[in-house]
Amino acid sequence: MSAAERLAEIRGRIAAAALQANRDPASITLVAVSKTFPPEAVMPLIDAGQAVFGENRVQEAAGKWPILLARHTELRLHLIGPLQTNKVRDALALFHAVHSLDRERLAAAIAKEVAAGTRCPDLFVQVNTGEEPQKAGVPPREAVAFVRRCRDVHGLTVAGLMCIPPLEDAPGPHFALLRKIGEEAGTGALSMGMSGDFETAIAFGATHVRIGSALFGARG
Ligand SMILES: *Cc1c(COP(=O)(O)O)cnc(C)c1O
Repeated sequence: MSAAERLAEIRGRIAAAALQANRDPASITLVAVSKTFPPEAVMPLIDAGQAVFGENRVQEAAGKWPILLARHTELRLHLIGPLQTNKVRDALALFHAVHSLDRERLAAAIAKEVAAGTRCPDLFVQVNTGEEPQKAGVPPREAVAFVRRCRDVHGLTVAGLMCIPPLEDAPGPHFALLRKIGEEAGTGALSMGMSGDFETAIAFGATHVRIGSALFGARG
């Protein structure tokens, strides 16, 4: 299958899952996760009309995307991996959305750049729904308060929440928990669902699905 055919297949599955859940397929954004793949692998998807891409490392993205972004002004780049405070400036120069806001110091660092005139990206608070010690994200019981502090203390608008369920768990309860926290926090968007579980995530209300291997093939 060509990249364009894989994209069409995934778009079809997203639309079918949306309709199954009585949702408008247009309310779901496909974030094509291109991490580890070179520009030559990305370009056929851009040519096929894909405009939103995800990367998990600032440094990798900085080497790969500036030329593509300059050439295709419709592109939107999303950071889906951890962000160190010393990389915030580089990240905001490149990314239109950050899915990994997970601590006060990072909120403060982003707010400082925005105050200095940098465009504020769409922000998603990452929630560690499985409370895994090795995983990033705010603990579920602290998430609503953290969203409020982002707004009240740092002046940041939080667009939504993001989670990565534990590998060994059924994802549904994690997606349901993220949605419940989002309702309580008053954030609209839900970044949840990857290649293996995006249809389940859509059933639970995902607005952003982050799909890598199903589009690009297995990562080396
Ligand atoms: C790599 C990655 C994805 C994509 O995973 P696939 O299983 O390849 O679709 C989604 N979200 C995050 C945070 C990732 O790091």
